[in-house]
Order: sequence, then C-alpha cells, then structure tokens
Amino acid sequence: SQISIATRSFKDYLFKPELLRAVMNCGFEHPSEVQQKFIPQAILGTDILFQAKSGMGKTSAFVLATLQQLKPIDGQISIIVICHTRELTCSIGREYERFCRYMPSVKVSTFFGGVPITNHEDVLKNNCPHIVLGTPGRILALIKKEVLNLCYIKHFILDSCDYLLESFDMRRDVQEIFKMTPHEKQVLMCSTKLSKEMRTICKKFMHNPLEIYMDDEIKLTNHDLRQYYIKLHENEKTQKLANLLDKLEFTQLIIFVKSVSRCIDLCKLLIEQNFPAIGIHSGMAQEERLARYKQFNDFQTRILITTDLFGHDIINIERVNIILHYDMPEDIETYLHRITRAGHFGRKCLVLTFVTNENDTAILNKVQSRFEVQITEMMNELEITTH
Ligand code: ADP
Repeated sequence: SQISIATRSFKDYLFKPELLRAVMNCGFEHPSEVQQKFIPQAILGTDILFQAKSGMGKTSAFVLATLQQLKPIDGQISIIVICHTRELTCSIGREYERFCRYMPSVKVSTFFGGVPITNHEDVLKNNCPHIVLGTPGRILALIKKEVLNLCYIKHFILDSCDYLLESFDMRRDVQEIFKMTPHEKQVLMCSTKLSKEMRTICKKFMHNPLEIYMDDEIKLTNHDLRQYYIKLHENEKTQKLANLLDKLEFTQLIIFVKSVSRCIDLCKLLIEQNFPAIGIHSGMAQEERLARYKQFNDFQTRILITTDLFGHDIINIERVNIILHYDMPEDIETYLHRITRAGHFGRKCLVLTFVTNENDTAILNKVQSRFEVQITEMMNELEITTH
C-alpha cells in the first residue's frame, strides 16, 4: 500500500519549547492533514492560500505557524489577523492566548465594533500588543486615528478570506489596511470555500503563494472507496451484522452507531459472540477514549464501534478496509467526515450503510447527489471482496 510518510507528531516540527509545551498541553498529538501540508511551509515564511472544511485545523495551523516565528518586540505589532465577525475575532484570539500560554511577554488584543473605540485606543497607547485581531471596520478606524501602527507587521492573515474579499465594502477596507503594512511580510489566507475567481483575487495580495485545497467533494469520487447500502428492518440489523462479519474479509472495521446505549449494547453482543470489538462513545472521558483509540491503532482489536470520530487523525486509518454505518448518520457532512480519510492512503475501502426507513433513504440520496457518487444496493455480500 502507498502510505504517505508525512509528519505524524507535533514533536517533529521542532517548535520552540514554549510553543511545543502549549501544544502538548492542549492535547494535540498528531497534526491534521491540512496542518501537515501547511505548517512546515508556513514556518519558513511562505505565503499560503489554503482551503479546507471547517474543523480541519486551519485556525490552529496559522496560529501555531505565526507564533513559532514571532519574535516579540515591545511597542511593535508583528501579527495581524482580520476576521469578518466579532465571534471569530474572539475565538481566534482565544486560540492565540491558549498557545502563547508559556510566552508570558506576548500580548494579544482583539478589536471590533460595538465596544467604545476609546477602550481600544487606550490599549494601543498604553499596552501595545504584539498580536492584533479584529474586524476590518474597527481596525481601519484605529489606523485612521493614528493609534494603530502596522509598519512592523510580519504576518498578515485573513481568516475566511472569501467573506472578507467578497463584498465590495469589506474588500476596500481590507485593501486599505493591507496598504499600511510593509511590503516584506508573510500573507496567509484561509477559508472553507474558495471559488476559482476568489482564488485569483486572494493571490493578488500574495507573492508566489503555496496553494492547498482540500476539496472533499472531488476526493469522494476519485479514490478507492466503494459504497453500498443494505436495505433492511431495524430488528434485522444485528443478525445482518453478524453475517457480514462472518463473510467479509477485513483487516480492521469501524462501525458507526447513533447513541451511547447502542454502542454499549452492540459491543457487548459482539464480544459475547467472540468478535474482537471495542466501543468508544461520547459518554466516556477523553482519557478513556484516547486509551481505546490507542488499542485499536495498535491492532489489539479489529472492530471499533463508535458514536463518532472525536477529533481528526485519531485513528490510523491504514488498516481499516470496511466502514459500516449501522445507523444512518444524521446529515451528509457527518457521512463525508467519517469516510473521507479512509481513501487517503491509496487503499481500497468498502463503505456499507444500513438503510431502514425513508429518512435514511433521503440522506443517502443527498449524499449521492451532492458528491456525485453512485451508491448501489448490496444484494449479496459474497459478490463483494475487499481486495
Ligand atoms: P478550522 O479552523 O479548520 O475550523 P480549528 O483549527 O478551529 O479548525 O480546529 C478545530 C478544533 O480541533 C479546535 O477545537 C482545535 O483546537 C482542534 N484541533 C485542531 N488541530 C488539532 C490537532 N492536530 N489535534 C487535536 N485537535 C486539534
């Protein structure tokens, strides 16, 4: 198989100790896929335009990469992050706070409308931050009042750059802010969606950018995922599962269920029938979950029953060649999230979905049309091999 030997641990990035310590403290062990592509280049100062679904670790990626490069000098703002909403400004501000926990001299400030501008003026005059986050309108207002000085900026970041550059007003503000920064700097932009037109607009702010597009839609049809559904009644599910486990060859298998009680019951049942199963569910403490993931990753057990994937990159997907939706996922995003990583290693994977009612069928149909894949009914498991 073609398993890509990418960095598997944050320890490999040679972050400064105070940053690595914070990363470990936050419970991060393995960089996500987008982080593996982004971080090694970003810490060299490269301009990067990147797109990935939300929750894939984009924010953490640029926060870490800029903190790694930051050499704080009092009175100078080195990093500016522009966001399109107050909520985002605050939540990214908190990410910076979290990761510079062991850099006591580093100061982070957030600026947005709705707060008296004099508060922000005071901060800038009396306690100038090294890292500034804000919405375009307020940032620009502070520049115009000559209290916000961007001439020391080394990293210019647009989060959700499509929102920031889409509407004429915001784009004009962003451009004006951009003009106040030095020519020599790193520009990073990210979003969950980036049309071809938007990519062109973004690149006008950048020099030779690295472009990372993690388009899940394309991947779903490209790789070696074979998807089938199985129509049956709710009360036939366990029997069907037992048949499948007997007849299908697999190295490792993940079974997704909809509730904690389902997870516990099914796990008990399989163990009683001597199937090597382990359950992980949302009712468990994080520590317990991680210990169980480790058992599965270390190949101590071949069947994982779970209510969800808790975090990215937690499971070594290399050996998983069957994914079974014992219960239909609640929405198509969940379906996608659960199976996309399975195809990334150039290995064939079989995805089976139990369909019991109209609601299940509707979700399955949505998956098919949105991702332009054909999911056929599996009539006889003997036709199917996993090799
Ligand atoms: P995005 O910006 O793509 O939406 P975030 O960077 O906000 O993604 O990450 C989503 C969540 O996952 C956050 O709670 C973040 O702390 C966490 N996270 C990000 N990267 C990792 C990682 N490598 N390991 C564990 N958790 C992570």
